Amino acid sequence: MKKYQMLIGGQWVDALDDRTFDTENPFTGTAWAQIPRAGARDVDRAVAAAAQAFNAPSWSALSASARGALIRRFADLLTTNADRLADIETRDNGKLIAEMRGQLRYMPQWYYYFAGLADKVEGRVIPIDKPGVFNFTREEPLGVVAAITPWNSPLMLATWKLAPALAAGNTIVWKPSEFSSASALEFGALFEEAGFPPGVVNIVTGFGNEIGEHLVSHPGVDKIAFTGGDRTGQSVYQIAARSIKPVTLELGGKSANIVFEDAVLDDAVKGVVSGIFAASGQTCIAGSRALVHRSIYPAFVDALVAFARTARIGDPSRDDTQVGPITTRPQLAKILEYIEIANAEGAKLALGGKRATDPACGEGWFVEPTIFTDVGPKMRIAQEEVFGPVLAIIPFESDEEAIEIANGTIYGLAAGVWTQSITRALTMSQKLKAGTVWINTYRAVSYMSPFGGFKRSGIGRESGLSAIREYLQEKSVWIDI
Ligand code: NAD
Repeated sequence: MKKYQMLIGGQWVDALDDRTFDTENPFTGTAWAQIPRAGARDVDRAVAAAAQAFNAPSWSALSASARGALIRRFADLLTTNADRLADIETRDNGKLIAEMRGQLRYMPQWYYYFAGLADKVEGRVIPIDKPGVFNFTREEPLGVVAAITPWNSPLMLATWKLAPALAAGNTIVWKPSEFSSASALEFGALFEEAGFPPGVVNIVTGFGNEIGEHLVSHPGVDKIAFTGGDRTGQSVYQIAARSIKPVTLELGGKSANIVFEDAVLDDAVKGVVSGIFAASGQTCIAGSRALVHRSIYPAFVDALVAFARTARIGDPSRDDTQVGPITTRPQLAKILEYIEIANAEGAKLALGGKRATDPACGEGWFVEPTIFTDVGPKMRIAQEEVFGPVLAIIPFESDEEAIEIANGTIYGLAAGVWTQSITRALTMSQKLKAGTVWINTYRAVSYMSPFGGFKRSGIGRESGLSAIREYLQEKSVWIDI
């Protein structure tokens, strides 16, 4: 079995007490690699390495342009290693190989974009209202950034933090999910190969419930950038509050895809299906509710079920597979429990509804693409994040009702709108309480466009110009002349 080490201060190391854990392949259900199981002392040495690197001339004296050049070199290496990393992610995480190759070939763009921004961070001269005084601002990095990431898109979600944080001049302690550490460690090797000074990027692997709180509360950490579930996010926020640490939180969602009677139905069907079943529903932006206008409801549901039924489920390493496994055993159990809850609540099962036993699924952890119709907006299946291939379809009668239902959850991450009316599209884009609104499309993201949540879906923005501000602090300098 392959044995990985962690990256601390430029060295590949085991956990200080030599503990490890196994990481499993969700398609075969078997362990394939051993990962160091860090303890508090490992977190301490990673934070110390990051703090030392932040202050060391090797990093703090580097010009912003030189920092940008290093990040660009990393992006080049990422491009040449994209397919190899995709294979590892598919084995460790069960993500579809075709999706991973696409994601990894696009990922370098985040690093090129933020590398380009590194030397465009400028302060301002303020025309101050006091005679004989000169006042200007400096934009400074925060220091050590703790990046904590989930298992569902491990490298992309880390990239959204690492690229702007490094460009702004911070150093990093990255704790990937215990369910997706292998690709993170392979990624770490590329920072080394690119020539980043030791300690600028550190990776500690281990369990959130063992080292998460220690990392978040660590006095040597200056900023927390967290993506994960909203309960964990709450705990991170509370702990960070004790020491007034700035946080970026990217949390859960219960996003609605709203299909109006004037939508192009074929497009809407494809958008709703890929919105929920891509990555087997294990994405924060999953369109897990479809709100469908009553006048097209029966026709739309028939077309949707017919299309979703054709999805090829099975081996994620095959190019033609469309629905892969569930990444973790606990997640598999959670999804099946939600299906029972939906049945018990009286939602009507229109497709799927159980663990997949298709021979193509082998011993893997699969759930059939599942569709519930006639879901009430207050049912748990319409309110709570399932994080699996389970769609709740809710009928509506008017635009106002669609807005009320769409906004009627604690979340506000994303929404989709399917209509040919420009007036309706613009009205919906204004009234939907969500950080991203897609009109006649779904799931598009770019390094250039800000991403983040309204309400309980999070705080702060990743990607785009706004993201670099999350990793800078403004200083006002006064000179009596
Ligand atoms: P999770 O909250 O269980 O874990 C996320 C990370 O936090 C992991 O690295 C975990 O080890 C760590 N962690 C666990 N307990 C901790 C603690 N007490 N203190 C500090 N860190 C701790 O989430 P998950 O199950 O890995 O991921 C799924 C969740 O992530 C879903 O809710 C999903 O919506 C959310 N997500 C959000 C976005 C977004 O951008 N908004 C993107 C992807 C996933």
